[in-house]
Amino acid sequence: MVQSAVLGFPRMGVNRDLKKATEAYWGGKISQTELLAEAKRLRLAHWKIQKDAGVDIIPSNDFALYDQVLSHIQDFGAVPERYTKDGLDTVDQYFAMGRGHQKGGVDVPSLEMVKWFDSNYHYVKPTLQDGQTFKLTATPKAVAEFNEAKEAGVTTRPVLVGPVSFLHLGKADRGQSVDPIDLLDSLLPVYEQLLTQLKEAGAETVQIDEPVLVFDLPAKTKAAFKPAYEKFASLGDKIPKLVFTTYFGDIVHNLDLLPKDIYAIHIDLVRNPEQLDTVLGALGPKTILSAGVVDGRNIWKTNLKRAIETVESAIQKLGKDRVIVATSSSLLHTPHTLASEKKLDAEIADWFSFASEKVVEVAIIAKAVTEGPAAVREQLEANAKSIQARATSPRTNDPKVKERQSKIVPADYNRKSEFPVRIDAQQKKLNLPLFPTTTIGSFPQTKEIRLSRNKLTKGEITAQEYDSFIEQEIRDNVKIQEELGIDVFVHGEPERNDMVQYFGERLDGYAFTTHAWVQSYGSRCVRPPIIVGDISRPAPMTVKESKYAVSVSSKPMKGMLTGPVTCLRWSFPRDDIHQSVQAEQLALALRDEVVDLEKAGVDVIQVDEPALREGLPLRSGTERDAYLKWAVNAFRLSTTGVEDSTQIHSHFCYSEFQDFFHAIAALDADVLSIENSKSDAKLLSVFVDSAYPRHIGPGVYDIHSPRVPSEQEIKDRIEEMLQYLKPEQLWINPDCGLKTRQWKETKEALANMIAATKYFRAKY
Ligand code: GLN
Ligand code: ZN
Repeated sequence: MVQSAVLGFPRMGVNRDLKKATEAYWGGKISQTELLAEAKRLRLAHWKIQKDAGVDIIPSNDFALYDQVLSHIQDFGAVPERYTKDGLDTVDQYFAMGRGHQKGGVDVPSLEMVKWFDSNYHYVKPTLQDGQTFKLTATPKAVAEFNEAKEAGVTTRPVLVGPVSFLHLGKADRGQSVDPIDLLDSLLPVYEQLLTQLKEAGAETVQIDEPVLVFDLPAKTKAAFKPAYEKFASLGDKIPKLVFTTYFGDIVHNLDLLPKDIYAIHIDLVRNPEQLDTVLGALGPKTILSAGVVDGRNIWKTNLKRAIETVESAIQKLGKDRVIVATSSSLLHTPHTLASEKKLDAEIADWFSFASEKVVEVAIIAKAVTEGPAAVREQLEANAKSIQARATSPRTNDPKVKERQSKIVPADYNRKSEFPVRIDAQQKKLNLPLFPTTTIGSFPQTKEIRLSRNKLTKGEITAQEYDSFIEQEIRDNVKIQEELGIDVFVHGEPERNDMVQYFGERLDGYAFTTHAWVQSYGSRCVRPPIIVGDISRPAPMTVKESKYAVSVSSKPMKGMLTGPVTCLRWSFPRDDIHQSVQAEQLALALRDEVVDLEKAGVDVIQVDEPALREGLPLRSGTERDAYLKWAVNAFRLSTTGVEDSTQIHSHFCYSEFQDFFHAIAALDADVLSIENSKSDAKLLSVFVDSAYPRHIGPGVYDIHSPRVPSEQEIKDRIEEMLQYLKPEQLWINPDCGLKTRQWKETKEALANMIAATKYFRAKY
């Protein structure tokens, strides 16, 4: 019989219950006991959904209060001393690492958080010391959750991040020089203990995630697989059987690293269906293949016929007992259930499948290949009908958009003049001081803002009332910036629920949902709009607010837009046309918006492209080169319609550009703001090495945490930056937008930022 398996389920719950509970806990509104009880309720509910769907292999330890990698950091005793020294209890220590802690005399920033592969999920980076030791906690979460499920009558397959991935995804703590992978020997005993305990608890199999196998790996990391998995093999029946799990890419280039006699290997056949034959050829004589055929990263209904064909071809080679039907990756990246979408157009809704529906698909496919298609004939017929309907629907195809795309000419990708000419023209108009200060766009999204937006949605206030509320917010934001002494203002983005959704709702070709939230980091969720058809802009999207902001401001006002690649990456994209085509459609729509903003008197326009890097194919080579080419072109197409005197900014939420710096430079943005406060200032040397001529604002403080940086800390940061950048190149700004912050800490932090800037202005 062919078993069905799910690699992980979203944690938030049907109504973002986990978000609500953790935030209530952080705000002191519920107790820790209440938080943990809610977490348990959610785990039980999610196991039940999968069990009811008929899934054979259900995951546990896929849950986390904040992040699954962070849970491993804590359970492995890899907690940096700054989080242990103040005696915080386990839960608070965990959150302190995730989001910083500034309460009761404890003041400690969070650990670095970065994108999980090419997804929009963020994990907390294992941050390791020279001479790091590991020690398994007395109550490992994986064991506790396995037992919890067992008590509820569900025998689960625990999920662990594998040792090689855990180390490879980690880094040396600031000031430390350890290469994490060198710590393998001290880490393995912790896995041995944990796996032994899981076996004793009754776990037959464990899903051990080694997704780093999809990367181009350094020799040392490659060399770590063999000792790690030989060690596990030597433990025989003392530990559960291991399902070596990869996703988000193909593993063909690393086949020699697969543990030879491992129980099972999981591969992502949605992303890279072509790897099937090669991997099949490399499997050990008894190894099972877990075939990831249901997309864990997108919301489209699975083409069951195609998925069944893929699984059948594996069965032909291996036999039914050596194939498992699975989701391609964890379903963490998909929304909870389609059932919550009451407002979706019925035609479109029929094309979708969210986590709760995907688990059913997995079970159907397994049944079809086990018992034959007749056993699920009705489901297969309905599926085929729906797939066909989407392919032929006029809603997916707009000839006008296609025509405009066909008329793009090379000049559409270039500014009128080179940077030196542009910056002179801009400076004449803007008159900025040395070290200009700005923010990235959003200010705190207060309760009043959310309330007001809700009222508008429910029809409790008129559009006019809402507009004047937004105008009031903009006036307040302008006043605050005037008082702080910022140089380039922003309107604060109060009208925007989310930086992509907001645009999606104003573009044709998009569908949007009411409940389709996915976790981005910690308690933060996003509700990606869905690209269902060809994209165009029926009307200006941000001009009204920006124009108003200009009218009430004494200083230059920056308009913010979300760039084409980010709109694409943070939406659920179409899977029926290439992403480059979708990006180009978005770029044309944004180009019109940029030009309209300029006409409205907005002299500084920032086009945010934080998602540019996450779209980077995980391996270097032709695929990556092709991506960078179309991504850069899309950005340029959006921004080059303006005069020289209009200053184009772009923003990135990271500072690791080494791998693709030429592309960042090729964007030709006049000013680049980037994250830098939690990264090494050394990363800025890439700008020096390439003699980057344009302006740069490396973030001087972290915005993910409520912690207020001191003036001195910011001075230190700026001092470091000036070791790399020329004073006339340097802008001063926070790492990113401030929407998730409260006003109190925002004002304090910005005041410290301005004070630090003044110090340097006096000095230079
Ligand atoms: N302009 C956006 C903001 O400030 C940018 C957010 C982002 O880069 N993630 O919120
Ligand atoms: Zn950012």
